[in-house]
Amino acid sequence: MKPIAIVTDIEGTTSSIRFVRDILFVYADQFLPDFIRKHKEERDVARQLRSLSENTGIPLKNTEALIEQLRKWMREDNKSTELKALQGMVWEMGYQRGEYQAHIYPDVPDKLREWQDAGINLYVYSSGSEKAQRLFFRYSVFGDLRLLFAGHFDTSIGPKQDPQSYQNLVDWIALPPADILFLSDVEAELDAAAAVGIKTVWVLRPQESGTDITKLRSKHPMVTSFKDINLEAL
Ligand SMILES: [Mg+2]
Repeated sequence: MKPIAIVTDIEGTTSSIRFVRDILFVYADQFLPDFIRKHKEERDVARQLRSLSENTGIPLKNTEALIEQLRKWMREDNKSTELKALQGMVWEMGYQRGEYQAHIYPDVPDKLREWQDAGINLYVYSSGSEKAQRLFFRYSVFGDLRLLFAGHFDTSIGPKQDPQSYQNLVDWIALPPADILFLSDVEAELDAAAAVGIKTVWVLRPQESGTDITKLRSKHPMVTSFKDINLEAL
């Protein structure tokens, strides 16, 4: 039976991993320190710095030490709430200034529109915060795509390789799991989704890995483009 909700991953699935790694993260690394020095008195930034100070014991007055802590977390890819929130603010600044646009593979927007027109509800599940996801689709190379999505999920529902996260997703979407399709480039995420009965398609972009899907074996149907996803066949 055709799915009536589709949940997609972003990095490696709708979009290149390189954009996030080489553009967004590099931009945050470069501009976060000055952004904090300049805006530390403003409410949203001040709130995050206060929370960071409380959680680490670094005195709030010691702005440079707080910045150093954030830079350390960035190097370690530690996704603390404060770091994520502050990175989101820096990314928003970059998007608004037109420094970059979010990468989307060209086969994606048309297919999402086709599914939406067919009455399918579309969702995103990504490790990027919900706010970062909305920014991403607002400032994409194909313009503002936010209206395509009925909702966004991030790791506040759980880690992406844990079946419980997908059970939480099923509960939120409030459909039987077999009516939901999950798209990702990571097999372990698909395994976790399949474990609770969600349908899966493995999106393997040749631009990302160079993997030849004809040589792979998997219980998940495999495609190299959204164009090749055939809902009738699932
Ligand atoms: Mg991914």
